[in-house]
Amino acid sequence: MQNILQEYFGYQQFRAGQKDIIDKVIDHRPTLGVMPTGGGKSVCYQVPGLYLDGLTIVISPLISLMKDQVDSLRSMGINAEFLNSTLTSKEKKRVESELVSGNLKFLYIAPERFNQPQFIQMINKCNVQLIAFDEAHCISKWGHDFRPSYQEVISHVMSLPHHFRLVALTATATKEVQEDISSKLGIAPNDIVETSIKRENLTFKVDNTYQRLNFVKDYVKQHRNQSGIIYCSTRKQVEQLSETFDDLEIDNVMYHAGLPKEERANAQRKFIDDDVKLAVATNAFGMGIDKSNVRFVIHYNMPQDIESYYQEAGRAGRDQLDSECILLYSDRDIDLQKFFISSSPADDEYKEKQGEKLRQMIQYTKTTKCLEAMMIHYFNPDEKLEECGRCSSCVQAEKNYNMTTEAQKILSCIARLKQNEKRNMIIQVLRGEETNQISNLGYNELSTYGILKNYTTNECHHLLDELRYKGYLNEHKEILSVDQSAMDVLRGNVEIMTTPFRTKPTEIVDIQTIT
Ligand code: ADP
Repeated sequence: MQNILQEYFGYQQFRAGQKDIIDKVIDHRPTLGVMPTGGGKSVCYQVPGLYLDGLTIVISPLISLMKDQVDSLRSMGINAEFLNSTLTSKEKKRVESELVSGNLKFLYIAPERFNQPQFIQMINKCNVQLIAFDEAHCISKWGHDFRPSYQEVISHVMSLPHHFRLVALTATATKEVQEDISSKLGIAPNDIVETSIKRENLTFKVDNTYQRLNFVKDYVKQHRNQSGIIYCSTRKQVEQLSETFDDLEIDNVMYHAGLPKEERANAQRKFIDDDVKLAVATNAFGMGIDKSNVRFVIHYNMPQDIESYYQEAGRAGRDQLDSECILLYSDRDIDLQKFFISSSPADDEYKEKQGEKLRQMIQYTKTTKCLEAMMIHYFNPDEKLEECGRCSSCVQAEKNYNMTTEAQKILSCIARLKQNEKRNMIIQVLRGEETNQISNLGYNELSTYGILKNYTTNECHHLLDELRYKGYLNEHKEILSVDQSAMDVLRGNVEIMTTPFRTKPTEIVDIQTIT
């Protein structure tokens, strides 16, 4: 494997995770690799694909990247082709005859093409050694970019007669998504290889400026010579912003799904070729943009979840040079995202999950904790967290509101609720709300009932978020429980600071009576 890496790719050493994934794949163990953008996922199927005597099929939704990947393999003298909707029927025939001839080493294919009956018939006759699922989060309904066509691919793949090997790769998969992918592809828990998604060249910033427009105008003027993307939530916003830059004579391309295909392709090409530095776009832009020198990604609105945010923001700095990821938001964005969720045709379970994801996204915009650490925690709660020292939270940390008393009250309340209630119920009890459910359960009899009655629901969320995030509370399926470490808080051995988030309540309940 080492020789292949050196000989074909010219690299001396494997990067974190690569060797582990490759060894498992060769060993016939279906494997899931979770690595950051730019971490080198392609090598994880290209090296074993070259080692094995037969065909490697790479299933990818990123049509626009296939040509580049294939060109780059060909430049190393490797026989590679792709099949997707961009090919003419003549080109398609040529690729198919290459495929059946048995000479092909790599075939990149879009899931929709894979599902065509004649393709399945064809590969039944080929010597398939390895199947790689790229962007594997698209397999999971709980991922941020679910593609139903992937489901069908899986059923076809699983019914193939060969003893092929299987690898799935993604940069953005929560534990839940990892479990979902694993169960669908028959991957054992030990065969999930996860490297840190930390990217030390990225600086994350959150700014809830009321002057978003002025902010981006100034920022872009100051960074005129750098490539950057500004993401907006709606097409209308993209058009307005792009026009504003036109008026300022700042060259920019705009991109959203409502534009004609040619116009989109043109915009993408200009941006990738560095003819234009600035792209203003919806999230339709970027799937498949492999541009290494993007120096900033600004979100003009808050995205729907942290996975989407990390994926989009992560398009900055693929060349490992310092880059900025800035999230601007206002509370109106929350309403828009809530509207997107409620008006989606999905079932209630799905909507509930999306609602929870949105809540965590909101938490990201409001937290006083390290943004990078929070993101890492979101994807991998087991990874050891350290403050990055670069993000806007770390730099501006002015945590001068002492919330220790509130923390003690909350922890006591959760203990009295037998650590078995969801966040919303906990907040209702803390605030002393009068509902049938509360009186039926007798929660209004608890000493902690109404103990934070002067706090708004949002303020309670803020406090719970801080506690959860600091590790004093654990959350599983929305049920909050008190962590062992919280004893220090209850005993008054530690103080918990947060950003000033409210005026101090007038009535303070004596904590001694309840702890
Ligand atoms: P991903 O798909 O994970 O975003 P890529 O597979 O495109 O990342 O790899 C990102 C870059 O890292 C590419 O330029 C690739 O050639 C390079 N790369 C991959 N593996 C290694 C390695 N072991 N040593 C040095 N560079 C590597």
